[in-house]
Amino acid sequence: MTAPDIVIVGGGINGCATAWQLAREGHRVVVVERYAPAAMASGWTLAGVRQSGRHPAELPLARAAVAMWPALAEELGADTGYTRGGNLRLARTEDETGVIRRLVDDQCAAGLDLTYLDGNDAVRSVAPAVAPTVLSASFCPTDGHADPLATVAAYRTAAERHGATFRLGEAVRSIEVRGDRVTGVVTDAVRIGCGACVVAGGVHANDLLTPLALTVPLRVPMVTVLQTAPVPPLLKPVLGAANADFAARQQLDGRLRVTSGATHWHGAMDDDPVPVVNPSVDGVARTIETVAAALPVFREARIARVWAGLLDLTPDALPVIERAPEIAGLVIAAGFSGHGFGIAPMTALLLRDLAVGDPPRLALDAFRRARFAEGGGAGLDAGLTLHG
Ligand SMILES: Cc1cc2nc3c(=O)[nH]c(=O)nc-3n(C[C@H](O)[C@H](O)[C@H](O)COP(=O)(O)OP(=O)(O)OC[C@H]3O[C@@H](n4cnc5c(N)ncnc54)[C@H](O)[C@@H]3O)c2cc1C
Repeated sequence: MTAPDIVIVGGGINGCATAWQLAREGHRVVVVERYAPAAMASGWTLAGVRQSGRHPAELPLARAAVAMWPALAEELGADTGYTRGGNLRLARTEDETGVIRRLVDDQCAAGLDLTYLDGNDAVRSVAPAVAPTVLSASFCPTDGHADPLATVAAYRTAAERHGATFRLGEAVRSIEVRGDRVTGVVTDAVRIGCGACVVAGGVHANDLLTPLALTVPLRVPMVTVLQTAPVPPLLKPVLGAANADFAARQQLDGRLRVTSGATHWHGAMDDDPVPVVNPSVDGVARTIETVAAALPVFREARIARVWAGLLDLTPDALPVIERAPEIAGLVIAAGFSGHGFGIAPMTALLLRDLAVGDPPRLALDAFRRARFAEGGGAGLDAGLTLHG
């Protein structure tokens, strides 16, 4: 094998999208993925694509990504299932109404097209299936959702067309560093020499970073996910809640796909042949109740699948996207904290910039790993930025 310029660890949406951005420019890229593309968060995800509810530091990235999504299917030559039906973030109590009002004020001031829907009639004019008990909502018409498996497959296939190689079912065991430079990676099958390595390993990123003393502080909570059999069209926007305790959307194939908030992970994960995390019975029951209270028709649907997903949650719920200052050629993309799917098209462009040594096209100060050691992140409302 000719030595690649860049090795990417992880075949989730970040790894696959970065592979495409690099390969289409002629860089020699190898993606090493322990299981299969989208085997972890990028397959477990709700796959909401939103700008609303983002932390101000992440808003420019999210807005740039949302601008990219409509053209993506044509650029990749395959469907992504992207649709733009908006995002409704619901207030179910007076307290939540205050949260939503502040969100709309702050994000409108930041230039986002976000409307405050005052009263149940206003909310149901956008989503008639929402419960009559919902008090108000924010509505961002330019948000939407996509098909995560189709999107990751589209990125992978397009990257392969441009010459990227995918080594699937193979784990990177270590990153080789000589002096202060990356010189290669060692997998459980081979050594691959390279000039740069992008670590996009999701909840496992620290397996490779900690031996290099570059740990990203991560907590790993669990999210319960349910998917129903197809039901008639009833929900265009993605639904979320002021306290992020659920999210829901209707896939283009009619299935409802709903998620819980972030909960304690019991620690068990099977991994043969792909990782499987099973939610608790209690978690499933609570998710059903929470979703059905906001979207009563959910109760009548037939459940087709139940699973759980893990989040790579940082203390301020913002990711780390950086060229590690300590080691030349090492790029870190970790800690997407339950909302890395929607921004991935733009994240991949930034990772491309970092991997080839160009100045990043957006400011990345908020995403430096060093912010944690400097005491950054204090006072941020991580809850609002959670998935959905
Ligand atoms: C239930 C749930 C709901 C979510 N909802 C949303 C949402 O609505 N909107 C949104 O924007 N985001 C959402 N997210 C978050 C989003 O899905 C993730 O942020 C995103 O998919 C992360 O992509 P990734 O490529 O960084 O990581 P992953 O998809 O986790 O990919 C990492 C890959 O790296 C591989 N890997 C790890 N270590 C190694 C190694 N040493 N060698 C080889 N391979 C390795 C893993 O096998 C894995 O496939 C949600 C996440 C979950 C779990």
